[in-house]
Amino acid sequence: MKIRSKKIRNMQIINPATEETITSLEEDYSSTLQLKFDALNQAQPIWANKTLQERMSVIAKFSDLLEAEIEALALVLTNEVGKPLQQSRNEINGARARIKWMLSNAEKYLSDEVMVDEPGLKEIIKYEPLGVICNISAWNYPYLVGVNVFIPALLSGNAVMYKPSEYATLTGLQIEKLLKKAGIPAPVFQVAVGAKETGAALLEMNFDGYFFTGSYKTGKLIYEKVASKMVPCQLELGGKDPLYVADDVTDIAAVAVGTADGAFYNNGQSCCAVERIYVHEKYYQDYLTAFVTEVKSWKSGLPLANDTYIGPLTRKEQISVLENQVVDALNKGAKLLTGGKAIEGKGYYFEPTVLTDVTNDMLVMQEESFGPIIGIMKVKDDTEALMMMKDTDYGLTASVYTANQARAEKILAQLDAGSGYWNCCDRVSAALPWSGRKYSGIGATLSHQGLRAFTKPKGYHLRG
Ligand code: NAD
Repeated sequence: MKIRSKKIRNMQIINPATEETITSLEEDYSSTLQLKFDALNQAQPIWANKTLQERMSVIAKFSDLLEAEIEALALVLTNEVGKPLQQSRNEINGARARIKWMLSNAEKYLSDEVMVDEPGLKEIIKYEPLGVICNISAWNYPYLVGVNVFIPALLSGNAVMYKPSEYATLTGLQIEKLLKKAGIPAPVFQVAVGAKETGAALLEMNFDGYFFTGSYKTGKLIYEKVASKMVPCQLELGGKDPLYVADDVTDIAAVAVGTADGAFYNNGQSCCAVERIYVHEKYYQDYLTAFVTEVKSWKSGLPLANDTYIGPLTRKEQISVLENQVVDALNKGAKLLTGGKAIEGKGYYFEPTVLTDVTNDMLVMQEESFGPIIGIMKVKDDTEALMMMKDTDYGLTASVYTANQARAEKILAQLDAGSGYWNCCDRVSAALPWSGRKYSGIGATLSHQGLRAFTKPKGYHLRG
């Protein structure tokens, strides 16, 4: 891709619910990025020289500011990505919960570790920061996926170039403002404003690590590009997450309601949204009835309205992806139980859509939908369910609903996915590694692994 060396345009920020322009922002180009990169490099050693406790107190202040300013921040987020206002508040509160876990565990996992202490010999691991890292991020949960990266990176003494998605840039700028208000020295955290070309320009620079959240297609390109730099490159990518309902669940209606939320929360625009459902034939019909009743009960509409559950899609282009999946499924013999098309009028709305009689060769069962659509298939036993669940290039999460924990774990153990769920779905815990396998990514954020992902361990062999 050709990198612009001078500014040629402003970026329009569009409200996906109304299609109105909220504002326009000047995009960064190679020379403005270079200035930011130089500033990050100068400031990083000073930041790394502060004690961990000093850095922790700044991050704690940032979390307090998120709480104090939650209403204004949620409004900005809803206006630019279209998620219902309550879901924006939930996201910010979720980010604060993750920060709390990181602060509670930073000393335990980032401090020096004495591995051997005997007369005449001490062996210690010190966790040194990578240096100046680049975080290219996604729009669907900008606070959550953002804090997975820039909070542990800052805690461990790195400086951060943060490129928010072009669909969540106003939120990225709010984050920068609050970090500075909390006491992060200005040059230590910089926002790169822009879309694909700005991201590509960042790949031309020599950061000490690249941390990417986004699609498989972009992630693969970034991984290839960064390989020759010989620095860490972590990828959190998409999924086609399967869910199986076995024949021993006790309350099929409750399972249908809970799993419908797992598929459609945030309009299905979650990396770990349930994307494929397999139901044992014993409960198939009951499950469908309860599932469709639940889906039809939701209100679609303006995301600022209190009772809206389904807002607009963030990106207009996703509508044609979903339409294509519906046409492909119907052509191959699926049945449409509800939804199936875009909603006419202003805004990027798509009807919540449920397809049955699907097969695994349909796009809706193979390609990441990232929207309000689900395919539900009948299976005869665990063996068939497992075979269907395995049939994917992705490996982010997988879920089994059954009364029997051992039965669930036996299935989950055979799936090549980073997270396994028993009687739950579409969930992330700060205490556990968040990691994808195969097309879903490389490396892990969150947990102790995620805290240390932004460090280089150095082994000290101390004799004397
Ligand atoms: P995307 O790949 O389109 O864009 C992600 C980021 O990459 C954006 O900031 C974009 O500007 C930048 N970018 C695009 N092209 C680039 C290039 N050539 N060089 C450098 N940067 C470039 O993804 P998206 O639409 O923002 O996010 C949706 C995807 O992210 C979905 O697949 C979703 O599943 C995934 N996701 C994964 C996780 C996870 O934790 N695994 C979390 C959230 C989202």
